[in-house]
Amino acid sequence: MTATTPTSNPPTADSNGVRKLRLRRLRLGMLSWIMAFALAIYAWSLNLLEMSLVQFALVGTTVLVLLLALHLAIRTGWSERFRDPSLTLFHILAATLVSLYIIGHADEARAILLMLFIVAAFFGVFQLRKEEYVMVALVAVFGFTMIVIDKIVGSDDADQRTLLLLELGVFAVVMFWIAFIGSNVAHLRRKLSQHNRDLKRVARNLKHIAEHDDLTGLPNRRQLIARLELAHAMAETGDQHFSVAVLDLDHFKRVNDRHGHQAGDEVLAQMAHRAREVLRGADEVVRIDDSVPDIGRFGGEEFLAILPGTDMEGARLAAERLRQAIAEQPFETKAGNIECTVSIGVAEHRSGEPVHQTVGRADAALYRAKSRGRNRIESDLES
Ligand code: GH3
Ligand code: MG
Ligand code: MG
Repeated sequence: MTATTPTSNPPTADSNGVRKLRLRRLRLGMLSWIMAFALAIYAWSLNLLEMSLVQFALVGTTVLVLLLALHLAIRTGWSERFRDPSLTLFHILAATLVSLYIIGHADEARAILLMLFIVAAFFGVFQLRKEEYVMVALVAVFGFTMIVIDKIVGSDDADQRTLLLLELGVFAVVMFWIAFIGSNVAHLRRKLSQHNRDLKRVARNLKHIAEHDDLTGLPNRRQLIARLELAHAMAETGDQHFSVAVLDLDHFKRVNDRHGHQAGDEVLAQMAHRAREVLRGADEVVRIDDSVPDIGRFGGEEFLAILPGTDMEGARLAAERLRQAIAEQPFETKAGNIECTVSIGVAEHRSGEPVHQTVGRADAALYRAKSRGRNRIESDLES
């Protein structure tokens, strides 16, 4: 286990979920301990374990303290300072040592009790790295070799000695393969979860790309329509009223013609940024409830603002702020300062009206603003 820098970040929902998963795995480990211990008690009751009651109780208490400590270390987040916060290696090594102790006191039941190692070692597929797996196998085989040497020395039965060596040989082979296969499975698991994380990140990025406009970073037409539908659904349930404003840059073709398409792009990006800032500021003035106004690129040099919880008066106020903010200050581009104005059409959603009609009325108002001289706001009430 390598120590890493302790994180001071507050626990997130994600880290809580991971902690729960670790605790669930620990409970599985506990279940395995209980099963193994029940079998050991049974063997002991049949006089197959040469252990006193005190020795037995001592092992039991040690295991209980160990499990409690593991539980606390994971639950409190203390173990998160280690590479593997489940403390798998520590847990498996402890299980190996306890198993060695019990097996060292078994005689006829020794071969069958060796199975306990296999169970303990299998838990490594959750986390262990190859070198850690090899370490567990080596500790188990080395420990068992000591037991076998001790028995061989104390035995004068040749058959018994051969059997002991066979036991050791089989055990070493089994542990070798468990370490080999287990570490491969653990490696695959790690790779798979890394791929899952990568996929989630890619999906998040793709979602952002699909919903936003490249040039301005604002929500794109598709996303605006989805948000309009949402605003509409809320209006229909009587939760919240909304208005829309459609903005179109005045004589933008001229900007492109005079200063080049690149400069036109710069104006669009800056204008988007400015509009968003203004709308957020205006939001404090016109906002009736907690919803946030939204502006996106509806197409070319046309933008659409959704103003939730805003009536016509509030929408006109917000639109006026937008118009002023764009007209008052030229945009600084590589081709020089460019003055620009914007015309805005505003419409308030009417109960029962589909959103495309609301946007259509705002569009018609925009058209009027253009024909009445540009750099102005019109609303659909003033036809
Ligand atoms: P009006 O005042 O009537 O709106 O005049 P206009 O010149 O702005 O006319 P219109 O809205 O029909 O023209 C839009 C122009 O915006 C045409 C197109 O070249 C330009 N445009 C659209 N998208 C982009 C873009 O992404 N970058 C640049 N540089 N120009 C764009
Ligand atoms: Mg235009
Ligand atoms: Mg246009």
